[in-house]
Parts: sequence; structure tokens; C-alpha cells
Amino acid sequence: MDKRQAGVRIGELTKELNHHSYLYYVLDKPEISDAHYDALYRELEELEAKYPELIQPDSPTRRVGDKVSNEFAQVTHSKRRMSLDDAFSFDDLDAFEERAKKIANKKWGYVCELKIDGLQMVLTYERGLLKTAATRGDGRVGEDVTHTIKTVRDIPLKLPRPIDLVISGEVYIGKKDFEKTNHVQEKSGNAIYANPRNLAAGTVRQLDPKVAAKRNLRSFVYDLEPIRPAQGQGQAPEVIKTQAEMLKTLLDLGFSVNRENKLCHSLSEVKEFIENWGKMREKLPYQTDGVVIKINNLALREELGATAKSPRWAIAYKFPAEQQQTKVLDIVVQVGRQGTLTPVAVLRPVQIAGSTVSRATLHNEDEIKRKDVRVGDTVVVQKAGDIIPEVVRVVKEKRRPGSKEFKMPTRCPICGGQVIKVEGEVAHRCANKNCFVVQVRKLEHFVSRDAFDMEGLGTKIVEQLCKEGLVHDPADLFTLEEGDIEPLERFAEKSAENLIKSIQSSKEITLDRFIYALGVLHIGAQTSRDVASAFGSLDELKKAWVEDLIEIDGVGEKVGRSLYDFFQDANNLALIDKLLIAGVKIKRAQKTVSNKLAGKTFVLTGSLSKMTREEAEAKIRSLGGKASSSVSKETSYVVVGDNPGSKYDKAKQLGVEIISEVELLKLL
Ligand code: NAD
Repeated sequence: MDKRQAGVRIGELTKELNHHSYLYYVLDKPEISDAHYDALYRELEELEAKYPELIQPDSPTRRVGDKVSNEFAQVTHSKRRMSLDDAFSFDDLDAFEERAKKIANKKWGYVCELKIDGLQMVLTYERGLLKTAATRGDGRVGEDVTHTIKTVRDIPLKLPRPIDLVISGEVYIGKKDFEKTNHVQEKSGNAIYANPRNLAAGTVRQLDPKVAAKRNLRSFVYDLEPIRPAQGQGQAPEVIKTQAEMLKTLLDLGFSVNRENKLCHSLSEVKEFIENWGKMREKLPYQTDGVVIKINNLALREELGATAKSPRWAIAYKFPAEQQQTKVLDIVVQVGRQGTLTPVAVLRPVQIAGSTVSRATLHNEDEIKRKDVRVGDTVVVQKAGDIIPEVVRVVKEKRRPGSKEFKMPTRCPICGGQVIKVEGEVAHRCANKNCFVVQVRKLEHFVSRDAFDMEGLGTKIVEQLCKEGLVHDPADLFTLEEGDIEPLERFAEKSAENLIKSIQSSKEITLDRFIYALGVLHIGAQTSRDVASAFGSLDELKKAWVEDLIEIDGVGEKVGRSLYDFFQDANNLALIDKLLIAGVKIKRAQKTVSNKLAGKTFVLTGSLSKMTREEAEAKIRSLGGKASSSVSKETSYVVVGDNPGSKYDKAKQLGVEIISEVELLKLL
């Protein structure tokens, strides 16, 4: 690359990195992974080192963070808050030590601390009371986020002594809480956070502290500016000489200090520490993206000083993102609350960084085209920030001939409405404004009395579940957890528990109710019962031809065709599979064993003593008869039990034959 080309590339990289910095620091919505950002950053650093005269004044290598949002009051830091230089290999660590040795050729030890994937917080205490909490911002000025930081339970609001001091540390969100919040975000059709750092940053920078309080922020602190007694308190200032002493003092003051730190006497001990944690980090309940290595002696640090952006006495070693290869089994399309269609790769399950991954979002059509992901492809998958799975690239050498490019559906997978692409937007949307209503109606039918009969799931709650995006299809109901619905309006802990119990207890279902619940066009409760007793099991029903179906009494051409078509549709079969995987158990129906009662229609009223009404109806159907819920001239018998209802009067009125339970038993 000649100088002119380097100039162009430096310009491009500066612009691109600044754009991503803004998305990351100001909006908390990165579009690329940290690994990708770091690779571009390194490319820029290398070009700038070769042609320092071409460095742009707004180069990201010259500054910390990004602009400070004006949504918050500004706090000017007492000293410049720095970023850290990154190391991606042990050679980088050797180079770091060599650079430092050139300035101060002494012997020193290092303190290794886990690099917590959160965001830096600067806490100012006056007379032992927390006065302000600020973000690092651009290093000089940060944002005042005291209101949300006060919700972090392990940050003391009051210290044991009335001292003035400034503390730095990391505020983060644990892995479980990260997944929980993202689950709610995803189901509600909102953007998910790319990594715990983004979630922590988004949470700290909430205007409403109640939202922050719910998300369970935590902290680890690692730095303190010399302790001064508060004015008029006259104690001698404490002298801290090393990083190790600093951590100990912080602990004594009641702060949360990460325990996994180690004083190392040489760089080879440091490397050992890194290797160990590279393997063990996935077991930690919080996310760490590397190890921060700091020279232990504070006086030596003063001597070494800093560059424009980072201290010369510390470096951040970054763990590589763990990657695995797996196969794309399918690409499905999810529809969000706003009608946005999101393609998702269904992957052959694979273990990455400690958990099983079976899905990865492909964001939108442009992203799929850029990566050219196809069903059947072998892909490299990594967890962005080690949490969110993303498809890095396709292994083209392993592509099978005949694979097809992915195309966005032209019809919405939920309502069949037209799919449109809005000018200037990357996303496709379902044009049907009622798409949501269709989804709610389908679910209402599924949970209704003649179907899964889920108590407590009224229209309002179904709407709420859909609105929050917690449920897209009926199978999602069975995977709901108490924690998913507790944060919803109107849901106290108890009612969340009851609702989950009610859903779980409906999992065992008779075949006729299951067929009815599927909401097949033209198939009511009665036809579902007739069909169930004709076939006995779902597997048999799935195999039936239209001809087999229309042989059932009461099933005509239109109904038979509708049922047949339903079981030919891959989406419907996928839903049935999803229901079975979610734990739904379908009880076999009693098959019609004779045609003894063929052509006879029974209506039951009042309570029976030898069996339930449902059992009696099943028996009638198994003998070829029909059980109906309303009396008409076509009714052959009305069976009257104790306390009969209006059907008894209607039977008398119409002159339909009335029989007792004993007479019914004789007939059966
Ligand atoms: P950094 O990740 O390079 O490291 C410095 C920070 O580490 C400190 O400010 C502090 O907050 C934190 N830290 C955690 N544990 C620590 C400990 N024990 N001691 C000291 N510090 C500790 O920091 P940065 O400057 O905030 O961010 C740069 C990185 O952010 C890039 O390398 C990149 O990975 C990421 N980034 C990504 C995008 C994107 O679009 N994906 C954009 C911008 C930046």
C-alpha cells in the first residue's frame, strides 16, 4: 500500500471506527462485535504508526470513549480517566514490558485483575458520603449517573470513616441477569443487548432509577485516589504504596473487590494466570473479556506516566472470542411486535464458551446477503462478547452443490399478510396492521375451554403476553418461566406462579382437544372429537388422505381437504413438533370399535353417577354414535342425569326420546 492509498484507508477507518464508537458508547447499540472493532482499530494503528503525518485529528486512537450525552448533567473528573492499551498475544505483553523497561529499567511485580466486561464508574465520596457517580465519558468529562448508581447494592452510600476520596471501578451485570433481561427484550421485539457491557451501560444511563433497580447491577472497584481526611477531621493521610495494598484498603472500606486477583513477580507468572483464566472464565457468574495487568508499585507508575490515551504501566490482555463450526439446519423468520421480520439461523446445537447454542440471529436480509448464509451451510459461530451467538462467516469449501440463496418470504409467517420493505430501512415488515390481532386470536383459541383449557389466561393476559413479545406461537406458552412474566404489569409473584402452574398442568391433553386447539379452518369441537375417535392417534391422523377423512360421518369434502392441507404444511408440522418438544402429551383417543350406534346422535344433560359426561361421550363415539351439545329434531336420544338443564325441557318440547343413565348403559 503506497502513501496515497494509506491516506484513503486511514480516512475510511477513522470514519468507520468513530461511527461504531458512537453507536457503542453513546447509544449502547453496537452493530459490530468487539472482535471486529478491535481488528479495524489495529489496522488503523498499524497504518498510523507507518505514516504518523496522516493521523486524522479525530482519530479514535487519540481519544477515550466518545461524546458525552447531554441527557445528563456533566461531571468534570478530578484527574484524566484513561483507556487501556490492548494486548492480543503474549508477544504484545513482552513488547509492553520492553517499552516500560526503556523508561525505568528496574525490577517490578504485576497485579493481575480480571477485566470485567462492564463500564467504568467514578465515585466521589465527601465526608464519607457518596456524592456523585459519573461515567468515564471522554476521559475528562463524564455523565452524572448518581441516581442509577445508588441502586447498586454493593456500592456503599456511606463509608466507615468521614473521608474524602475518589474511587474507580467497574459496574457490571451478571450473566444470569443479562440473559434474563435479554430474554424479555427479545420476546418483546425490542433490540437485545449485544453483551453485558452494553446492558450495564444502557442500565446505568437510564433516566428512571426503578428500571435500573430491577436489572441488578453489581460492582467491582480497583482504584482509589489518596485518602484525605475530610476537612476539619485532622487525621493523617494514609499512604498506599502498591496496587495490592490499594485493593486491600478498598475491601476494608466496605467495597466489593474482585477476589480473583494475583500478585505476580514476573511476566511468565502473568502468562500462567492468563492461561488459567482463559480456561476457567466461563464458570464465573459474570463476564470477563480479559486480564488487566498493572505494575504493582505506585511510585514507579508515576515515573512511567501515560501516552495520550492510556497509562504506560498497565495493559489489557483480551481473551480471544471462542468460535465453533456448525451447520445451519434452517433459516426461520420471526415477526416482532412492530411487524419487523427477523431471520434466524437454526443451528445444529453446539457448545460455545460453556453453553449450548442452537440459534443465531441473522439480523436482516442485507446481513444474510453480505455473509451469504444458506440452509445446509457450515458456518463459524461465535458468541459476541462471548454471550450472543453470531454467525461470523460461511465455510464456503464445505458448501454442498445446489444450495439456494435465502429469500425473505413475501407473506408473513404469522398472518399470511403481505411483506413490505420500507424505503431507506433495512428491515422487512408485515403490512397487515392486524397481524398482532391474528396472533392474539390464535392464542385465545388455543387456551380456550374446549382446547387446552388454561385457567387464568384471559384475553387481557394473552394480549399482554403477545404485546410484550413473550409469546409468538402457542408452544412458547409452555416455556414461559415465572421470571418472564413477573415484571409485567399486574403480575405479582403469586399470580405469575399460578399462571405457570395452570399452563404446565394443561400439558396432558386428549387428542380431540389437541386437534381443536390447532385451530384448523372449519374444524370445530365436534368434528375434532369425530376425527379423534376415527383415528385414535395424531400419527395416524397425519397419515390420512382426504379420502380417509371424508369417510368419517359428518366430515365432508371441504372439511376433509382443510384437515389434509393443514397436515401438509411444514409450518404446522413444525408447530406440532415444537409443542411436543415443549412437553405436550397427547392421550390416545378411544377408536371407534363398532358401528353399533352409527347414525344416532346423543345429547347428555345433568350429572351422571357411573361415569363423567366426557367418558360417556367418548364411549358413544367409540361405537360410531355422535355426541352433541345441543338438542334438535335430529337428536336421537337425550340422556338425562341428576339436575338436568334446559336441554331436558327442549327434548320434551321437540318430542325427542328421553333416556336415563341406566338405559344409556344398556345401549352401550
Ligand atoms: P477497554 O476495553 O480497552 O479497557 C479499559 C477499561 O477496562 C477501563 O476503562 C475499565 O472500564 C475496564 N476495566 C475492567 N476491569 C478493570 C480492571 N480490573 N482494572 C482497570 N480497568 C478495568 O476499554 P474501552 O476504552 O472502554 O473500550 C475499548 C473497547 O471497546 C475496544 O477494544 C472494543 O473492544 C470495544 N468497542 C467496541 C465497539 C463496537 O462497535 N463493538 C465500539 C467501540 C469500542
